[in-house]
Amino acid sequence: MFLKTPIEYLKGVGPAKAEILQKELQIFTFNDLLYHFPYRHVDRSKIYKISDIDMVNLPYIQLKGKISNVHSVGKGQSERLVADFNDGTGVIELVWFQGAKWIKQSLTLGKEYIVFGKPAEFNRSYSIVHPTLDEPEDAANKMYLHIQPFYNVSEKMKVRGLDSKAIMKLLNQLISDSRFDIEETLPDYLIKNETLLDRKQSLINIHFPKSLVMLNEAQKRLKFEELFYAQLKILRFKQNRTQLYNGIQLTRIGDYFNTFYNTKLPFELTNAQKRVIKEIRADVKSGKQMNRLVQGDVGSGKTVVALMSMLIALDNNYQACMMAPTEILATQHYQSLTQLLEGMDIKVHLLTGSTKAKQRRQIHEDLMNGSCHILVGTHALIESSVQFNNLGLAVIDEQHRFGVEQRSKLWHKNTYPPHVLVMTATPIPRTLAMTLYGDLDTSVIDEMPAGRKPIQTIHKYDNHRLAVYGFMKSEIAKGRQVYLVYPLIEESEKMTYKNLTDGFEQICREFQQPHYHVSMVHGKMKAADKETEMKMFIKGITHIMVATTVIEVGVNVPNASVMVIESAEKFGLSQLHQLRGRVGRGADQSYCLLLTDFKLSNDARQRIKTMVETNDGFKISEVDLQLRGPGDIEGTIQSGILNMRIADISKDNALLMEARQKVIDILEKDPKLENPENIVLNSYFELYNKTSRWGSIS
Ligand code: ADP
Ligand code: MG
Repeated sequence: MFLKTPIEYLKGVGPAKAEILQKELQIFTFNDLLYHFPYRHVDRSKIYKISDIDMVNLPYIQLKGKISNVHSVGKGQSERLVADFNDGTGVIELVWFQGAKWIKQSLTLGKEYIVFGKPAEFNRSYSIVHPTLDEPEDAANKMYLHIQPFYNVSEKMKVRGLDSKAIMKLLNQLISDSRFDIEETLPDYLIKNETLLDRKQSLINIHFPKSLVMLNEAQKRLKFEELFYAQLKILRFKQNRTQLYNGIQLTRIGDYFNTFYNTKLPFELTNAQKRVIKEIRADVKSGKQMNRLVQGDVGSGKTVVALMSMLIALDNNYQACMMAPTEILATQHYQSLTQLLEGMDIKVHLLTGSTKAKQRRQIHEDLMNGSCHILVGTHALIESSVQFNNLGLAVIDEQHRFGVEQRSKLWHKNTYPPHVLVMTATPIPRTLAMTLYGDLDTSVIDEMPAGRKPIQTIHKYDNHRLAVYGFMKSEIAKGRQVYLVYPLIEESEKMTYKNLTDGFEQICREFQQPHYHVSMVHGKMKAADKETEMKMFIKGITHIMVATTVIEVGVNVPNASVMVIESAEKFGLSQLHQLRGRVGRGADQSYCLLLTDFKLSNDARQRIKTMVETNDGFKISEVDLQLRGPGDIEGTIQSGILNMRIADISKDNALLMEARQKVIDILEKDPKLENPENIVLNSYFELYNKTSRWGSIS
């Protein structure tokens, strides 16, 4: 109850400051303040030697010594005050760009100071810009010689005297109150087995750690708790679903599957493909509804896995459908399926936004009377007018563009929800997958079909464009085809369009002699025109496809062996990887050429470097997560699940897996969390679920 007290009643707050705390940090109660965690700590418990700076390698350090010399350097804008600081083991420079006059007056040569700041190296000597200076006696009295917390505060707060130090004092006030107490939210046995710090000690040490070790323990405990309850939520959701819905039981492997496997399949399946098909088969005959995510890098052969799963549905007298995010893709799936199934008595229909009314009526009829076995389409397929006779399996390709809502619409296409197979070529880092799709079972196709040569990726600055054109010509002369992609710059669609058309014209001029055919596709074209251009390329009539990222997902032209990406620095990593995946689909050596500006930001450089170094989509997705953080990864922004207070999906991999495993174990033994030892979980689960602000639990 104490922690529910409105913040204005904390000593040193009062109505005026309470209002600021509420407005700026959403701190309404003592508990909210307690959950305003520091964004970093600085170890001021030690004093280091200048001679050790090289070895210490800390972002912030504290030194004790004397100032021997103060002088101004530079003129005008770049004028700065420089002081030599000596601790008997070495000398570093202290630098001020602002307030030079005042600082110069206040410094006393030869007097002892404690200097605190961030050392920077330049020309093999160190300096600290805008250091904090304290006199040793002073420092001892203050809280400085500890591990000091730093809090996020806004400019408005600073002006009103609520800076980081003030927040620190308020927290100190709160924690030293005799009524301060914290309930445990995890069962005792879990705390013991996982050697976790208890909740009270964690909440104290997260602010005022007794040591760096304790800080670590406190963070670990609070992260674990957060991840644990998030996984409990996801896994209970899954538990509910598997209990509520019975699945269609697909027990038979029959003629469709066997005929295809024995006489139609044009290649040997990879071991990974075989394994995933087995996993799917086990799911669909289990009597439970399947919800499986198949992750497989571009080109790993997901389509045939989908097809063979659909054939199992057909063998059990059910229909199947396959959804793709774009018309081009749906059409291509339709074409490759009909090709693979040629000569078999299987009726496949294609339904997209541009299917004519008459044809549409026919499709509806065939679906209802059961004569259509497989329906391929875009999201036109989930419109309520589309009714199946008995849908047994729905495959969703490239799922992140669909979203959970649309996914669940499929469930209602049948009395029993059909099995759902989700296929994604956008590798998702494991932690993110567990957090976002933790309710789905996952399969991974982690092997490429034999005989593929790894794509060679080369980075060129765009002043080498002519050399790149030369290379394109030599590849085309060998009979290959080339993609040339321009970025889509969201702020300025007009610009993009101009880049694209200029590029197109330049390419046309450049490739007149010998006369090569050039096509162009972009998002603004009519679907039918796009289609025509794509078809020309697929058939091999055009040699060069100039495009925006509309070709990003799924398109399969095995003869295309060169992917040139203009302004590659403007693309995200996963997008670059997706684009690169358009080549390397045949037996030929393929190339990806990344053209960039000469000037590159650090992140852009890292992205290009990663692309050049690896073809492994999972590695790339990990780097992507590190560079961008989870918030920016496609499709995660709206997902409240990622609103973590302290855990970091991009870093706390091991802890997440541990928490998840614990949840799985506990739910297995005690599905309803009824055992006395687990009661605490049940009650806090409700609480965590009710509030999006986890901190408001006390
Ligand atoms: P993705 O996983 O990107 O959807 P696809 O299913 O489009 O990949 O397959 C890419 C290409 O690889 C296709 O041309 C397909 O026919 C071929 N393929 C798939 N599996 C194999 C295999 N086991 N051996 C050889 N080629 C394969
Ligand atoms: Mg595909």
